[in-house]
Amino acid sequence: MIRKFLRKVFSRKAPAAISQSTAKLGTIPFKQHGIRRNQINPCALKITTSLQQAGFSAYIVGGAARDLLLGLTPKDFDVATNATPEQVHHIFRRSRIIGRRFRLVHVICGAETVEVSTFRGHSSTDDNNHSSITLTDQHGRLLRDNVFGSQEEDAVRRDFTVNALFYDPAKEEILDYLNGYEDIKAKKLRVIGDPTQRYREDPIRMLRAVRLASKLDMQIEEETAKPIGDLAPLLQNVPPSRLFDEMLKLLLSGYALSCVVDLRARGLHHGLLPMLDVILEQPLGERFITIALRDTDERIKQNKPVSPGFLFAILLWHEVLSSWNSLRASGEKPMPALFKAMDEILSIQRKKLAIPRRFDAIIQEVWVMQPRFEDRTGRKPFRLITHPRFRAAYDFMLLRCESGELSMELGEWWKTFLSAENETREKMLLKQSSPKKSKRRRSRKKAPSDPALNVENTIKNDNN
Ligand code: ATP
Ligand code: MG
Repeated sequence: MIRKFLRKVFSRKAPAAISQSTAKLGTIPFKQHGIRRNQINPCALKITTSLQQAGFSAYIVGGAARDLLLGLTPKDFDVATNATPEQVHHIFRRSRIIGRRFRLVHVICGAETVEVSTFRGHSSTDDNNHSSITLTDQHGRLLRDNVFGSQEEDAVRRDFTVNALFYDPAKEEILDYLNGYEDIKAKKLRVIGDPTQRYREDPIRMLRAVRLASKLDMQIEEETAKPIGDLAPLLQNVPPSRLFDEMLKLLLSGYALSCVVDLRARGLHHGLLPMLDVILEQPLGERFITIALRDTDERIKQNKPVSPGFLFAILLWHEVLSSWNSLRASGEKPMPALFKAMDEILSIQRKKLAIPRRFDAIIQEVWVMQPRFEDRTGRKPFRLITHPRFRAAYDFMLLRCESGELSMELGEWWKTFLSAENETREKMLLKQSSPKKSKRRRSRKKAPSDPALNVENTIKNDNN
């Protein structure tokens, strides 16, 4: 069976993504690009210098070179070299070789770690030279890409031209094999080689295109964009943990809103967030996601923490709400109905992009606490604020108010309650709980926070 599979795979002639002869080396001097070596992180600079002194070539590559050219602050500085992982490890005492399949070296300076990778080749199927064989599955997805190669091959195996630049801090010059520099200046995100083949090799590149275009404020070049819609189903073949990691990168990029909108526009969301269409087609759902993701993006830009569980609680909330409301409308009691709705929505989501179980607790707690904000009688608000997840649930409730799903009055009440002294808090409670029946009946008419009204709202929206 395995042998048959291998034979099938090896007999496929995988066309080279881009022939090396089309990769023409351009050297961009300092006076053109303007990047000084002192803009490089000192740890990465020390590494390239030491490697070069030991006779190897070494460059700052990938996102760092690109971001510096765009005037952005790089997230991390990666180094690429022609030294093997063992040679790198030998030069740096504080380093370790990581990864079994894809071997890299982590070099440590102080609290920092810099990733050093050996130039890798994009080897095609080659019956004469099995040492450079790259395995692909039946869709063309690369199963092995750990073959060392030349610097030029290393450029060509990368995803986008703007990610394939090599900055040499010693000479302060950039080596550019694929016109990445021009694409950066033109703000064009262009796949290296044949886009269809490159997405088949690694469908994650379609998500990277969306994320990088938003983050870098670039246009996805026409040929690069064209096959995405048709190839979107290939995301199903990507190992779920990798898909989840990439989705998280996208949601925590600081550009979640524009990424989610773009994912949907390109039809990439089906395998990731299967219920997104339904949610965004309801005006309230769309408003909630827009406000919540904008808020998340703002938090990230201010370096405030954002929990992935909270993000998924946001993305799925309106489906839970809609299912919860239907169950209640058909006579189920509120809390059992909410639990049933949560289970149903999480299991639909799991069939596509499985959210790791470690996030379940926060997602469910944030949802389960929501009805408790609407009950401001007795000691209940006091009990609610002692809950360990109160803050997340409170932020979530405020977003619901802001989106128009709950009344602003409810959000204001909670803001006042939280900032008030105990004496004022007690008075607020009394006001809520005293003339019970008549007041409740009156408020039913106008407060959209009333669960009964929510049922109507959602049913109305569902019919839109
Ligand atoms: P970020 O700013 O998000 O870190 P990045 O481009 O640096 O963006 P990384 O995931 O850090 O992204 O990858 C570093 C480099 O490795 C990329 O710039 C690119 O050259 C290469 N790379 C990453 N993922 C892929 C991929 N799926 N296929 C080909 N090359 C890739
Ligand atoms: Mg990076």
